[in-house]
Amino acid sequence: MEPILLYDTTLRDGTQGENINFTANEKIKIAKRLDKLGIHYIEGGWPGSNPRDKHFFELAKKLKFKTARLTAFSSTRKPGINPNKDQNLTALLESNTKTVTIFGKSWDLHVKQVMNNSLKENLAMIRESVEYLKENGREVIYDAEHFFDGYIENRDYALQTLMTAVDGGADIIVLCDTNGGTLPFDIESIINDVNNTLHEKYSDKANNMPVKIGIHTHNDCGLAVANSIAAVRSGVVMVQGTINGYGERCGNADLTSIIPILSLKMDRPCISEKKLTKIRKISRFISETANMIPLNSRPFVGRSAFAHKGGIHVSAIMKVPRAYEHMDPEQVGNMRRVLVSDLSGKSNVEYKAKELGVELGANGYDSRKIVEEIKRMEQEGYQFDVADGSFKILMEKFTDQFNPLFELESFRVTIEKDKDQPCLAHATIKISVDEQKEITAAEGIGPVHALDNALRKALGKFFPNLDSMGLIDFKVRVMDGRGGTAAKVRVLIESRDQDRIWSTIGVSEDIIEASWQALADSFQYKLSKESSPSQPNN
Ligand SMILES: [Zn+2]
Repeated sequence: MEPILLYDTTLRDGTQGENINFTANEKIKIAKRLDKLGIHYIEGGWPGSNPRDKHFFELAKKLKFKTARLTAFSSTRKPGINPNKDQNLTALLESNTKTVTIFGKSWDLHVKQVMNNSLKENLAMIRESVEYLKENGREVIYDAEHFFDGYIENRDYALQTLMTAVDGGADIIVLCDTNGGTLPFDIESIINDVNNTLHEKYSDKANNMPVKIGIHTHNDCGLAVANSIAAVRSGVVMVQGTINGYGERCGNADLTSIIPILSLKMDRPCISEKKLTKIRKISRFISETANMIPLNSRPFVGRSAFAHKGGIHVSAIMKVPRAYEHMDPEQVGNMRRVLVSDLSGKSNVEYKAKELGVELGANGYDSRKIVEEIKRMEQEGYQFDVADGSFKILMEKFTDQFNPLFELESFRVTIEKDKDQPCLAHATIKISVDEQKEITAAEGIGPVHALDNALRKALGKFFPNLDSMGLIDFKVRVMDGRGGTAAKVRVLIESRDQDRIWSTIGVSEDIIEASWQALADSFQYKLSKESSPSQPNN
């Protein structure tokens, strides 16, 4: 079977998504990563549409890719002019890529009612634009915009636009479900018809075709991946999509699903097994660069994709992972996670203890008892499936293995508010480390920030490595609003250093107290991974 060509359009269609923007330099970095992953075509942007994309293609002239071909995107020429007079096509050629992609209209509704054009001129635009790019020595990918909608309303015309592109010399024609409204079985039957029609007209005696067919889908019905997979089953050999499915409205087909499905479920590998293990990392890299929160439930690559919470599930996967996992998470660079909560049983706690390196049963406090404790605490508002750091400390406490690296003697937080001035918070904290007392004071933007600063300053005298640690997220949730301003709150803190991210939790009627618990756990967790305290260097 012919190998599948992956065509990534994160840098062009992906940036049509709400809140997704990349600078030209970020685009270069992403393109390099996509090449490393083994993507065959990387669409860099539309050089005729904005200066940033033009700049990107200038920078990209120095890039040397291992596997990928860079493509520039544009539309067919404007009505009524020569292709060599068309500014978009000129900018396309000036971007100097060996491959170019142009889109044209397949739906008569668009030709007549949106563009006020004639059906005949639209065909001439397709043919002449493709011919012009071929004359200039380019590999030409022709994107048939709205192909499926066009086909359903006027099959003959939609097919005619495709044949016109083939006649013009297009190397690959890509059928686009631009509005994302087509269903998988329609995708299959329409592509079968396209295949038969083109074969009848163009294939030679050995049944070879002068053109390849591709698919480009959008996710408006939540079916972009399913539609792409259906298209592959009908014989297309190019799949277009974006990393994380970023794209206009509900997004494009998500390559982080399509690539593993093709490789692991359909035996149509398009990148090597080794590269497939990098796919989770690239998904994270692109969400970081786009400044989007990574979706935990994203198939294959999300943090929750292989997370188990129910006790029965966990005891089963400890025996046979296949019992509740459709594949080995490591194949896509992901990992199995076991969550601990009031839904858990003994197995979750045992699994988690092993993962976090805590020896259970040291003092007869067995995992069954720990589960009961956790259930009681979750009643009070704790939630340990999102707070690994606090869970580890809790298990150590239960089993007398907790080694407090510092102890709180007291703290005081004050807030000052002057008429027109912003609030200012001060914190004073007294801690002891190995019997040595330390008192420090610090200011902050709010009370928790001041407390964090004071604790950090105090601990910094004993533990020099704290600089590498920082808070990345601070969430407060009111547990039960009926208490009004006296209601219980839950504080979740996420912290990180060079190589880890961990979460801690605190619950109290007092927001400062809850924050303190989470903050103290976070530092405790970090310090327990470091060496023992040094002498204070005042
Ligand atoms: Zn699109």
